[in-house]
Amino acid sequence: MTTVKSPASSASVTTPLLKPSESKSDGAGSSTQKSSKFSGNSVLDGLRSAFTGSGKAASVPPRSNSMVVSQPKRFHDGSVRPDALVAKRHSGAVIHSAKTGEAITVGNHFEVATYELSSGLDAHSDSHMHPTNYVQRGLNPEQLLKMMDDIGVRNTTLMPIPTSLLQAKLPGDDGATTALNPHEISEQIGGGEHAHHCGPLEFYYVPKKIEDRVLAGRTSEELASRPKLDIDDFRKDPGLIKEIVDASILYVDTAVNTDLATAIKNSGMSEAQRSRLDPMITGLHLGDPRVSDRLLHELYKTKGTFTGIGEITVHKELVEDMFAGGRLQASTQTPRMEPLTKLMEVAGVIGTPVVLHCDIDNLHDQVEEFNSKGKGKASEARLPANLEGLRKMFSDPRVQDTKIVWAHGGGLGRFVQQGEGHLDALKKLLADCPNLNLDISWSEVAKQIGKDDQSLTAWRGFIQDHSHRICFGSDTLAPKETGTWEATKKMYDEGLFKGMSTEAKHNVLNGTYDRVFVASRKQVRDFEQNVLTKEFMDTHVTNNGGDPVSAQTLKDLKAAAATA
Ligand SMILES: [Zn+2]
Ligand SMILES: [Zn+2]
Repeated sequence: MTTVKSPASSASVTTPLLKPSESKSDGAGSSTQKSSKFSGNSVLDGLRSAFTGSGKAASVPPRSNSMVVSQPKRFHDGSVRPDALVAKRHSGAVIHSAKTGEAITVGNHFEVATYELSSGLDAHSDSHMHPTNYVQRGLNPEQLLKMMDDIGVRNTTLMPIPTSLLQAKLPGDDGATTALNPHEISEQIGGGEHAHHCGPLEFYYVPKKIEDRVLAGRTSEELASRPKLDIDDFRKDPGLIKEIVDASILYVDTAVNTDLATAIKNSGMSEAQRSRLDPMITGLHLGDPRVSDRLLHELYKTKGTFTGIGEITVHKELVEDMFAGGRLQASTQTPRMEPLTKLMEVAGVIGTPVVLHCDIDNLHDQVEEFNSKGKGKASEARLPANLEGLRKMFSDPRVQDTKIVWAHGGGLGRFVQQGEGHLDALKKLLADCPNLNLDISWSEVAKQIGKDDQSLTAWRGFIQDHSHRICFGSDTLAPKETGTWEATKKMYDEGLFKGMSTEAKHNVLNGTYDRVFVASRKQVRDFEQNVLTKEFMDTHVTNNGGDPVSAQTLKDLKAAAATA
């Protein structure tokens, strides 16, 4: 990671390296990295003259408002990345001569360097992106890269959704959603009687049919402020939760890892294009005591592909109730946190960061608490359901080397709401667990953060103070258009990011991502090459009999390879 702590210290450089017309140009749609304007001669010429200038810096009239701090990276195949680290000149900077007190209007003050695409767009990284949806449909790498250029995404994670939707009832003429629990699957649901197909299949875990019915009951005025199903609908009618949950099962789809690896392998991307993607392993059953062996299998099959693990999910509103594994899924409330903890420990040895979704609280508890208020029940302060279990796991000595990213502003959701003392709890966790990072992904989280001025101010202060531990993510799900992908970022641009320092914003938009994801790539490649050999697989993973490979064995093999 390149950071520029004191941009003003590059004092003698005043010659512009980018003409204004180059630093803000129109060609946002360009998708070929080879045509990068940063690689043009004008930049090199600018650099040359900058470093061979007259020495009387202030006498050189400014031709630009920025300077390139780090050039776009060029690769062996000749391809060039489209992003460069650029320091913008402080607007209206004025320096006074120490001798004469005279104002020198040409200052050498630059902001902290931030990333720009060759198109002139400000560039950010997306630490939380789902290219495919709950039925494994979505974007291929070529489509992704085109959209990234259009909206200024320099790097992104690729997180396939690891659970596929299995509708309880095939769509049919009756139009009825099932009232039967698919977890007790019966002849009636699965049998031939209702097997005729009519109408579109669902592709999201909240059935469109149910959401449409609820929204039909709203006036156009209500729809403007509440365009989607939300927590108030559940508060009014807790039976809705059951209806949604009963409509489908979500089964773990471990094929998504190789699906993604295959798409990347067959994409024909240039090295520069490939360097902008951080594919993530998600297809893992977190309740399986052998899940860490599964991870080794996946990495062995797809060497050179994955950066990290996640988004993997422990507790998630609705989804956990629909999970085909029932109570055998990972949980902060049962001993089923152990397989996940071991997986995280192994991830720490390999060097893969782990992005974790775990709601801080339980949806049912929140709805019940809301509806029992003022009904005689003494409302004692209730701790969020999963906070203690998470704190235990984050501070478990076994995961101290694991780079963890806890998603969604500390486990907030579309329905799960931020409770009192939320930011204090996050501050304490960050202080106690040095390996913990947070993402502020999801438009629903942006909505909660931006719900009023008080919340915005509190979150802005919190992020400003912990920006090196926090990263931005869109949490977009198989976007069909750029507007969908950039929605979360736009919400933050218009609220949270306003008035935040350039440095804090840089950390949230790129710095933390570079440290957690980009810096991990080499560690994982080294592990794959040095430890994940055929001999290792034969001896430790695929031999008949035995327990999963322990983290200690992996550590020893890694250390032995390093000294070999
Ligand atoms: Zn999530
Ligand atoms: Zn997500």
